[in-house]
Amino acid sequence: MATPLTVLQSQSYTNFNCIHKDCEDNCCGGWGIVIDKRTFDTYRECTDAELRPIMDSNVDVIDGTPNDMAYAQIKLEHDRCPFLSESLRCRIHEKLGESALSRACSTYPRAVNLVDGVLECSLYMSCPEAVRVVLLDPDSMALEASVRSQALRFASPPSLDTKDRKYTNKPYEHFPAVRDLVTSILRNRNYALWERLLILGFFCDHLDRVIAANDGASVGDMVAGYAAQIEEGLFAGAFKDVPYQPIEQINFVTKWIDARAADGTLNPRFVTTCDEFKKGIDVGSIDGGAAAYVDAATRYYEPFVDANPHIIENYLHNYMFKALFPFGPQKSLYFEQKSVFTEYVLLVVHYAIVRSLLIGSAAYHREAFGEAQVVTVVQSFSKAIEHNLPFLKRILGFLENRNLNSMVYMAALTRG
Ligand code: SF4
Repeated sequence: MATPLTVLQSQSYTNFNCIHKDCEDNCCGGWGIVIDKRTFDTYRECTDAELRPIMDSNVDVIDGTPNDMAYAQIKLEHDRCPFLSESLRCRIHEKLGESALSRACSTYPRAVNLVDGVLECSLYMSCPEAVRVVLLDPDSMALEASVRSQALRFASPPSLDTKDRKYTNKPYEHFPAVRDLVTSILRNRNYALWERLLILGFFCDHLDRVIAANDGASVGDMVAGYAAQIEEGLFAGAFKDVPYQPIEQINFVTKWIDARAADGTLNPRFVTTCDEFKKGIDVGSIDGGAAAYVDAATRYYEPFVDANPHIIENYLHNYMFKALFPFGPQKSLYFEQKSVFTEYVLLVVHYAIVRSLLIGSAAYHREAFGEAQVVTVVQSFSKAIEHNLPFLKRILGFLENRNLNSMVYMAALTRG
């Protein structure tokens, strides 16, 4: 019998339902679908006359696979999973049941972490329906706790145990307080969103210095100090001299969407997103698109975000909840340990690219810019870049090698 498990899930996680054939970018197309070893082995013993030949010819072991969770991969046919029926239903699911699906197929787009024994559930933004339920509902990130007794299919989720003393590289015992603080900063509408991101950056930088000084015991006081300063409005006006740098923002996003395109196959939706960004602001024009970028930000993007402040906040909140920001997990199959400030830089990289692509989309669609465009931009970006860990590592390496992993450059990328 499965042991009861406390589950903490966002309202969006509860509300998510796959829309199958109505999905505009089915997850069974356009990217690698990985199969865990246990599922691969069962496919090699499958007796279904229709499915077995596809399993034999279209499921290949990944050369030099790092672990059993990503043991094999499904070969797509015409960019689609060969197990999909004409009506875009999964034939493995239909004929053999959910238990026959690989862990990736049965759980996507659900993401989980284990924090102090509690399973924390959120959603990946590479699924269009997940983007809608996370971004468009003002209360989507409200968390609900429940106790489950049934077995869950998530294997080896990234984990963090605040009481485990063998991980000494970060003051993990303060993770709950730090997480509460960073979430409250993100949600504090007394400051513009870019100002909140800068406060977050200074906090993360400060936290890294405390860690370097081996002074983890002072983190509680530090968190309380920041909370009090924010509450008293001591950051008000602190960033008024930070310059707005639209050309730097355009150059940054252009560099990385071009680099991603040069890497190979791109999802058609992300190609459209990038084309609309470039055409919308006319990247090739004499000012590099700066005038159109500023105009679109002022006339279309900012009024939309001001009227719907939850949308970008929810994107960042979902990211932070899923990433165990700013510490990251202690144990994970894929996660590599980073400093607190590097976690912050990665957050800003996501925000800066998404925001600039949205401004480009606003320049392209003008008065028609709205929720539909936001969903397309966020989902296509997530599928092309957010899931591509080597590519994100490359961006971080670039910033580090040029000493651009600094608050000055983070301000240049975020200042609106
Ligand atoms: S991308 Fe999301 S909504 Fe679309 S088929 Fe996959 S899980 Fe369902």
